[in-house]
Amino acid sequence: MKRIRIKMNEQPAIERIENFSEVALGYTEEQAQTEAARCLRCPTQPCVSSCPVNVPIPGFITEILNNNYDKAYQLIAGENFLPAICGRVCPQEQQCEARCVKGVNAEPVAIGSLERFIGDWSLNQQHTVKASKSKHKVAVLGSGPAGLACAAELARVGIEVSVYEALHALGGVLRYGIPEFRLPKHVLDTEIDKLKRLGVKFYTNVLIGNSLTVEDLLQEGNEAIFVGSGAGLPRFLGIPGENLNGVYSANEYLTRVNLMNAGRFPSSPTPVKSGNEVIVVGGGNVALDVARVAKRLGAANVTIVYRRSMKELPARKEEIIHAQEEMINFKLLSQPIAVTGENSEVTGMECLSMELGEPDESGRRRPVAIENSNFILKADVVIVAVGQTPNPLFIKNTPELAVNKWGGIIVDQSTMSTSIDKVYAGGDAVTGAATVISAMGAGKRAAQSIVRRIM
Ligand code: FAD
Ligand code: SF4
Ligand code: SF4
Repeated sequence: MKRIRIKMNEQPAIERIENFSEVALGYTEEQAQTEAARCLRCPTQPCVSSCPVNVPIPGFITEILNNNYDKAYQLIAGENFLPAICGRVCPQEQQCEARCVKGVNAEPVAIGSLERFIGDWSLNQQHTVKASKSKHKVAVLGSGPAGLACAAELARVGIEVSVYEALHALGGVLRYGIPEFRLPKHVLDTEIDKLKRLGVKFYTNVLIGNSLTVEDLLQEGNEAIFVGSGAGLPRFLGIPGENLNGVYSANEYLTRVNLMNAGRFPSSPTPVKSGNEVIVVGGGNVALDVARVAKRLGAANVTIVYRRSMKELPARKEEIIHAQEEMINFKLLSQPIAVTGENSEVTGMECLSMELGEPDESGRRRPVAIENSNFILKADVVIVAVGQTPNPLFIKNTPELAVNKWGGIIVDQSTMSTSIDKVYAGGDAVTGAATVISAMGAGKRAAQSIVRRIM
């Protein structure tokens, strides 16, 4: 029995495709206790070193078993200020759970689900958040996980932190990218409220590089600036027909639905073409999120088009299973070569069938086109989810900032300092599209090096 981990209850697929409510419902207290009892409390703690922010995993799990949820929360929050978020969205199977000793002969301990249990418990508590006060001042650009983690770490030691966000709402991809059914926005709002209680000031609708420059921020008395501007620039396929009506980037599509409430048009002012036959190009988590959103907006058929096979599909296994349960189709080994249309509207997508050749530099088998294998898929909406690159807006207006050929900000990995004195950076703006917890880890490291420098 102890070999099998406790699975969270879920909203049934047939019901959930009709709504945006959360799919995974979290552990009950009894489930959390049973799962916590599976942890072996290994002295070497390999799970801890596989977590990018080193959450003390056996420690907090022991406190769950002791019924001491407050202590469990304090232990997690000491390293990770957003447990209710990370417990939901971290790719745990590649991180903390990947090296869980229990996983050698059985299923690994469900560390993420237990972290979520404590994170959710904490959302209903009024924690007194204590922070000392100092005379130091730092500005943070961007309110995604990198910016939030940096702000939390700085505010904890009493630094006055101002976070500037270009959009009208806070959270970065946590707000406009990850859909409500995976990360409810009330969870994000409550986690951000904790930062506000710590004294962090937030300013929305401020585009740093335009409305305010690095020079302005330094002149206002900030002793350092952290840049967490993310990777919000979508990649396209570069094929004919991509400018037809009904073609969206994943970024635009998700922003319309998640941030601008397009699903409620016309009672909300922003529309989105929901479509009946929807094609999503790509195989990562973003593509799966888009497909599942399209299904919930009422599309009859949603098809993921991916050029390799199921084995190479990069999305998390859990998300693939959820998508399959929700009747998302997978058209694998298929490479789009044109979007077809009539009267400027999308009517379909022309593809080539592929086969897998020798492994490429990424180690995955290279897809090779099969000659004369062209076929057409019917579509009235096409959404392109083939990756994002670092947001260029701040970078373009700050020419002295050194960037690599992909547009990522170059940093010294030990301090996260950039080519401009007093300017630090981290998260997707440096690495390109990555994960929430790696962005938080970078924000935290930058904050620690800012503290060392100014205090
Ligand atoms: P972002 O979250 O992109 O935040 C950057 C913020 O900076 C944005 O709010 C932006 O508006 C703001 N900004 C940019 N330029 C300026 C400027 N000049 N002035 C002021 N503000 C500015 N990761 C996971 O770990 N698990 C998942 O399940 C997962 N799902 C994902 C689903 C989707 C649809 C997407 C797109 C990504 C997903 N990711 C996931 C990746 C993860 O969300 C990102 O790696 C993470 O959000 C990066 O954090 P960040 O703080 O670096 O950037
Ligand atoms: Fe695992 Fe993420 Fe929690 Fe770290 S923060 S322990 S990687 S769920
Ligand atoms: Fe528990 Fe697994 Fe970590 Fe061991 S490796 S302490 S079993 S969570």
